[in-house]
Order: sequence, then structure tokens, then C-alpha cells
Amino acid sequence: MKTKKIITKQEKEYTYFCEICKEEIKHNHGWEHHNCECYADIGEWYPESRSGTKWTFDICATCFIENVIPALKRELGLEPRKKEYSY
Ligand SMILES: [Zn+2]
Repeated sequence: MKTKKIITKQEKEYTYFCEICKEEIKHNHGWEHHNCECYADIGEWYPESRSGTKWTFDICATCFIENVIPALKRELGLEPRKKEYSY
């Protein structure tokens, strides 16, 4: 059963939906940490001003692993740097 969540204006500013699966992107779930950012920010930054263009894809961590990485491998032959950590 699909339910519809009512989102307040303040929540909307900070709520992003995955462009692939359309689910809400949840960056952190309790102790789980999901930080998935797909963007390019190109411009000129001076001490008194900044200008530029930022391109952003809102993509959840699951779709990044299951769709974006395979697409980049398939289309461009890219292999991501992968670093596992524990401390
Ligand atoms: Zn997704």
C-alpha cells in the first residue's frame, strides 16, 4: 500500500526525492550514515563575491550503487575509488 506523506514548507526545503526511484532521500537513519552527493559546482569565488553554476542530481545511496555506478562503468568505462573504513 502506498501512502502519501504531507510535507510542511520547512521540511520541503530540506526534503529531496531520488530522481531515479522517486523515494525520499534519507541521509541518516539513526546510526546509519548515507551521504550521496552528485554535483558539479563551477565558478569564480572571490573574498567578496561568488558566481558560478551548480548542477545537481538528487540520487539516493541505493540508486547510486545500483544504477549510477553501473551506468558510468558501462557508458564511460569508469571505475570509482572505493574506500572502506572502520574506526
Ligand atoms: Zn533512488
